[in-house]
Order: sequence, then structure tokens, then C-alpha cells
Amino acid sequence: MIEKKNFYINGKWVAPVKPNDFDVIDPSTEEAFAVISLGSIEDTDKAVSAAKVAFETWRETSKEERVKLLEKFCEIYNRRWDEMVEAQSMEMGAPLDFASEIHTKMGADISRNVIDILKDFNFEHQFDPKSNNQIRYEPIGVCGLITPWNYPMNQIVLKVIPALAAGCTMILKPSEVAPVSGVLFAEIIDEAGFPPGVFNLVNGNGEVVGNHISGHPDIDMVSFTGSTRAGKLIQKNAADTIKKVTLELGGKGGNIVFEDSYPDAVRDGVRTIMSNTGQSCDAPTRMLVQRSIYDRAVKEAVDEANKIKVDVASKKGDHIGPLVSKVQYDKVINLINEGIKEGATLAAGGPDLPNGLNKGYFVKPTIFTDVNNDMKIAREEIFGPVLSIIPFDTEEEAIKITNDTSYGLGNYLQTEDKDKAKRVARKVRAGTVYINGQGAETGAPFGGFKQSGNGREGGLWGFTEYLEVKAITGWN
Ligand code: NAD
Repeated sequence: MIEKKNFYINGKWVAPVKPNDFDVIDPSTEEAFAVISLGSIEDTDKAVSAAKVAFETWRETSKEERVKLLEKFCEIYNRRWDEMVEAQSMEMGAPLDFASEIHTKMGADISRNVIDILKDFNFEHQFDPKSNNQIRYEPIGVCGLITPWNYPMNQIVLKVIPALAAGCTMILKPSEVAPVSGVLFAEIIDEAGFPPGVFNLVNGNGEVVGNHISGHPDIDMVSFTGSTRAGKLIQKNAADTIKKVTLELGGKGGNIVFEDSYPDAVRDGVRTIMSNTGQSCDAPTRMLVQRSIYDRAVKEAVDEANKIKVDVASKKGDHIGPLVSKVQYDKVINLINEGIKEGATLAAGGPDLPNGLNKGYFVKPTIFTDVNNDMKIAREEIFGPVLSIIPFDTEEEAIKITNDTSYGLGNYLQTEDKDKAKRVARKVRAGTVYINGQGAETGAPFGGFKQSGNGREGGLWGFTEYLEVKAITGWN
């Protein structure tokens, strides 16, 4: 059993004020493999005080000092790569190859990108050549960073590294469901030698530590990634202190497959939604297929879903692993049963365990066809390997159905007509539009329209979220 019961506060590993052990479950076996502590209000206060004190000196550090420490961080991260792979694989069920090539690699790529941005960033410049005003970018202050379990390291790095680069200090609360990689991350920060109090980690649940962070008067900004449900609570709780709140929330992406799409568009769409066992906020969960190719698309989608292997995370290979937890498993199975009740056609998968697996939170890659956009399975974020296929006739109708959701995180479209692709990409309302299966580059902005959130992460956009802008008159 891995023991990670201490918190990282003011440069030291400290025991929680009151012991409160919490088991971390391996979703492939349903057995505990690690134990952490759930923090209290007092633990949170200690971390915030440390961050507040450290801010006074960290904000004054030079770009060069920060770059040097961040380079050191990257060096240690790369050295501890295999531990990071194993932690994420066990805590959230990502198969080993996926945990390395996607989860762990994302953390490395984002960190490098932030270092490049920091090196080039001009923190102070004249307003314009004739002006007597000076513009300065200053760190926003103490940040509260709250992350989910579905891409644990990606989401921690997307927040902590730009916050450090900007000169902010912080308290991180990783998801209590997948906290082991977060503790390892704190060990790397510690070894890199960041000054005490600059980065603090307190594990805990949303109701206690998360809630105390969002309302804390000494926290200047909260950056949250997680469910729209928790995002709403955080925004409300933050209102009294007028802190800045950035939110990366859920999604219900549309994937428009036109009749002139490239040959593997349907198969690729199925692979994309099933990837990470369907637990990606920008997953293309609604496949909109033009009626003229509908029957062929359904056959291909079902064939592709049936080819995807499901197995334990500890194996190498390109299979998908279990869902993260019993809670998530029950939610996904309920929604699959709901889809059957609502009259959608279950064309692949279903609520039973995949063949050969009799424990673990495994779900078969599932496809519903003949879905209409008013059904619950087309409206709610399922966060599992479940695809809904919806037919459409015209371009206008496809855009209308795609935009008919409270979310707006990622939309996808497939067509070989470049003009149509650009026209539709401009009209669908989401923070990212993926054309013909092209992934976003590291450094591109990521975030949501509508109830998918506020603010952006990644690249220059993610970095500048952690800065305030100051205008100084009478400069010359
Ligand atoms: P969640 O909202 O339950 O939890 C996320 C984090 O918030 C956890 O650390 C949790 O402890 C904390 N939390 C929960 N309630 C809180 C509260 N009242 N106050 C403060 N903190 C609170 O979500 P989850 O189940 O961990 O993650 C899945 C969700 O995250 C999905 O809806 C998914 O779409 C979303 N997500 C969005 C993005 C994005 O960038 N838009 C990325 C990944 C995941």
C-alpha cells in the first residue's frame, strides 16, 4: 500500500491537523492501492497563509530565476516519468501506454511550452510610442487550483506551471479520486527547489477543502477544472470576495460527418470518443451523420466499436481501461439504461461487463443510433465510452443540432470541402473546433463557450490568465 498522507505546505511535508485517511482505489481491481489524507479548513488555511507570505518575494523574482527553476522541474519530471505513468495508470485506470504517451507526455509538453512563453514575454512596455503611460503585467496573487481526475497531470500542469511562471503563489487541491500523481508532482516541485510557500498541496474533498478555497479572502484567483455542477457552486462561493474565477467544465461535443468526409472519418470519430474510456471533456459524443451515408456510417461505427478491446490498466497495448470509480460506473450504466428506455437503438455495447472481466469498473464501447437531440443521452454529459449517432439532412440543420446544447467545449467536423469546413467551423459555438481529425497543438487555447466555462488554458492565453494589467501614468 502506497502511503501519501502528508501535505506539502511551506516547503515541508506535514501531517494533517487531524488524521483523516482516505483510500485510493485502483478501478481495474476495485481494491485500495494507496492512502492519502483528506484535509480540513485548518490545513487549507495553513497553506494559504504560506502562499500569502511567499507571494511578497516570489512576485519580485526575475524571469531568469523562474525559467531556471522551471527547467529544473522539467528535468526531474522526465527522470521520474515511469513513476508518473504508473501513478496515473493506477489511480484513474489509464492503460500503461496511454498513461505514458498521452497523460504523462502532456505534462512534459505543456511545461516546455510555458517556459518558451515566459522567455519571450514582455512584462513591461510603453503603451504606445507617443504615450507617457507604461503598461505592466503583474502576477494576480495567491491562486487556488482545483483539478479533476480524468487527465490528472495535464490539468495540474496546465494550472501550476503558468501560475509559477507568472509569479503567483498557490495551493493545489487535486481530485481526491486520483491524487497520487499530484503528490508525486509536489515531490518534483520540492526537489526542483522552489522557495517555501510558493507551491502548496493539500489533498481533500470538494465540500471542505475545495469550498474553503473558493471562498477564501486571501485567495485572489481560483482556477477550476471539473463538472459544471461544481463550477456553479465555486462561482457563487467566490462572489463575496470578487476573486477571479476561471472554469473549465463539461462538454457535449458534436462531430458533424458530411457525406464528402474522408474515408476513415467515422472510424476515427469512434476511436476519439472511446479514448480515455470516454472520460474527456471535449469528446465528440454526438456524431451527426448526413443521411445519405447514414447506413454505411452506422455499420462502420459499430464495427469499429466492437474492435476496441477493454482490459486492465496494468497491461500494455492500445485497449481502453475501466472508468475511474464506482460513482462514475453507476452514472454511465444508468445513462445507458436511460438511452434504451428512451427508445434509441442500442447498436453496440450495452450495460453488461465486457467478456472476460468480472470485476473492475469496465464498460463496453457503446453506440446508440437513431438518437434525437432531445434525448437525455444527447443532452447530458455521460463521461463514458458511449456514442450517440444522430442523422441530419442539411448543413444548416447540422449546425443547429450541434449548437443546441448548454455546452460549448469542443466540436468536430469532417468534410473534404475546405470552404464548407471553414464556414461551419466559424458557426459552431465551442472553444475548439477540430477539422478532419486534426488535434490541437500544444500552446493552442483551450476552454469553453456557454456552460463549458470561462477563461482559457494553454499557451499565451492560459499564461496571461494569471496576470493583472497595470497602467502607470506620468512615466517619463
Ligand atoms: P468534479 O466537479 O466532481 O470534481 C472536480 C474537482 O472539484 C475535484 O478536485 C473535486 O474535489 C472538486 N470539487 C467538487 N465539488 C467542489 C466544490 N463544491 N467546491 C470546490 N471544489 C469542488 O468533477 P470530476 O468528476 O472530478 O471531473 C469530471 C468533470 O470534469 C466532467 O464534467 C468533465 O467534463 C470535467 N472536465 C472538464 C475539463 C475542461 O477542461 N473543460 C477537463 C477535464 C474535466
